[in-house]
Parts: sequence; structure tokens; C-alpha cells
Amino acid sequence: MNPTRRDISPRTRNKVACVIGRAAQLIRLRGWCIGALRDDSGRVCLMGAIRETSKPYATKIRFTAYDVVNQKLRRQNADIHSWNDQQTSSDRVSDLLESVAKELDPHYTLEAICIHGLPMDSRCYACFSEAY
Ligand SMILES: [Zn+2]
Repeated sequence: MNPTRRDISPRTRNKVACVIGRAAQLIRLRGWCIGALRDDSGRVCLMGAIRETSKPYATKIRFTAYDVVNQKLRRQNADIHSWNDQQTSSDRVSDLLESVAKELDPHYTLEAICIHGLPMDSRCYACFSEAY
């Protein structure tokens, strides 16, 4: 059972769109990989990126984000597990994530994020601890 756009409240829809949009940013920032959620150099795959950017939120947000991306890929006869590894450029992956985020909530804002996938102004705990 997957949530469709109508089943998700506007508030959750915005959160999930931000998580997915930031995942696109994170791939652009850290680089993209296949075959692992995260490789030794910190590059992330599609699911790995969503895993990172959804960390501040309830698990439900992460799984809703996976579901929404999966629904989009299913229209292309693919799924979230295999699609990433079939791609040949990170831009294709980031572009897909950005289009899913926009479809989900056209009003979501794409902001600058830190290396951990959180908005720059969000007092990222990991950035804070690295600074001291
Ligand atoms: Zn950070």
C-alpha cells in the first residue's frame, strides 16, 4: 500500500518534498555512487541520499519519500532498488529527484545545504561538532 499524493497531508507533503529535493542537492554536493547506499568516499546513491536527508525526521517521512520516488519510477517500469544502478550520470538521478519533489509540492524551496544534507541555517549537529 503506497500513499498517493492525495493521501498525504500538505504539511507532510512539504517535508517529504524537501527531503527529496535535498537528496538531489546532496548527490550534487558529495557525488553519486552505485551498488551502495554510501561508498568509502562519502558518495551516495539515490536511496542513500534520501536516507541522509531524512535523518532529522520521523521514519515515516523517509518511507513516504521512498514510496513517492518508487511510484514515479514504476511509471517507467523501474523501481528504486534497480533504477539507480542502471543510470550512467549523477545528473539523471538528481534531476529525477528534483522533478519528484516539484510534483509533490510545487512550493517546496530548494535551499543551500551542508555536507550532511541539512539546510545551512538549521544548526546541523554534525557540522557543529566538527567545528569544535
Ligand atoms: Zn552538517
